[in-house]
Amino acid sequence: MIENQQQFASDNYAGICPEAWASMAEANQGHVPAYGEDPWTTRASDAFRRLFGTACEVFFVFNGTAANSLALAALCQSYHSVICAAVAHVETDECGAPEFFSNGSKLLVAPGGGSKLTPAAIRAIATSRSDIHYPKPRVVTITQPTETGQVYDLEELRALSATCRELGLRLHMDGARFANACASLGCSPAEMTWQAGVEVLCFGGTKNGLAVGEAILFFDPALAEDFDYRCKQAGQLASKMRFLSAPWTGMLDSGAWLRNGAHANACARRLAAQIEDLPGVTLMFPVQANAVFLQMAPAVQEALRGRGWRFYTFIGGGARFMFAWDSRPDRVDELARDLREIVTGAAVPL
Ligand SMILES: *Cc1c(COP(=O)(O)O)cnc(C)c1O
Repeated sequence: MIENQQQFASDNYAGICPEAWASMAEANQGHVPAYGEDPWTTRASDAFRRLFGTACEVFFVFNGTAANSLALAALCQSYHSVICAAVAHVETDECGAPEFFSNGSKLLVAPGGGSKLTPAAIRAIATSRSDIHYPKPRVVTITQPTETGQVYDLEELRALSATCRELGLRLHMDGARFANACASLGCSPAEMTWQAGVEVLCFGGTKNGLAVGEAILFFDPALAEDFDYRCKQAGQLASKMRFLSAPWTGMLDSGAWLRNGAHANACARRLAAQIEDLPGVTLMFPVQANAVFLQMAPAVQEALRGRGWRFYTFIGGGARFMFAWDSRPDRVDELARDLREIVTGAAVPL
């Protein structure tokens, strides 16, 4: 069955944006060398280096789990550990892949429940033990924006990286929604990454409008040594690599990456603005990117589902709504209207 009604359960429900699609079509002409030896992969890598204003090493993989896991594995020995937030995707949604691909580097959940790490939390866990029986802290991974849609500002990022440098920790950024964070802060990709001390970035393409694919950027080329072998061994070296890399050329050259992020963020704000005053519906987190999390009674959730809306409640029991490059403002308004009718009408006894 093909569902025609747009849903906001996940930003992965959206299709491929026109700019990515056009580049795919263009790349789908003739023959070019395989395994990344093609002009598209060179062009896409160069486009990233231009966008970030630095000579970073760029790799293309199929998905975010692979990007994060392989990037973290490259920064760790098996006896090292990786500090993350409790709700970090690497901790809760990657099926142990970071530990698997690093041959056992343990994830350490930092104290403090929020989706953001703080210098204090990093310090607390990194200095809690120094004996040989504990996996040696080596990397900090942060998600930008976080899984609950908050954005670290530049000052926070600089403070985190200063703490990392002081403690001898590397800093990795899970940027599955990197474009949304850039649009939210209005800063340059460089400011949010290498200039702030981030050493490795996983730049999400899928949620930004690609069919499939994430880019991994190493700002210190030395850290990328043999990373191509790591990708190949993990089953992440695409033989027809041009179809992973080409869409990025259209996205980056046209600015679609940032426009898509800004549009999705605007849709999230549009929903939040319309439901803020509703009785019995509470915004669980500040809306800083493309996510809206709503606390509401189970009966209200039920009624929303009854009206055909799909959403997940896996983080803190709230209803999550995620917006994408193609989210339609009228459909956002429809969701807000349905929610208003449910909580203010007689439909549900609250
Ligand atoms: C979606 C997402 C990923 C990537 O997930 P895959 O399903 O493996 O592509 C990584 N990190 C975060 C925070 C995400 O939301």
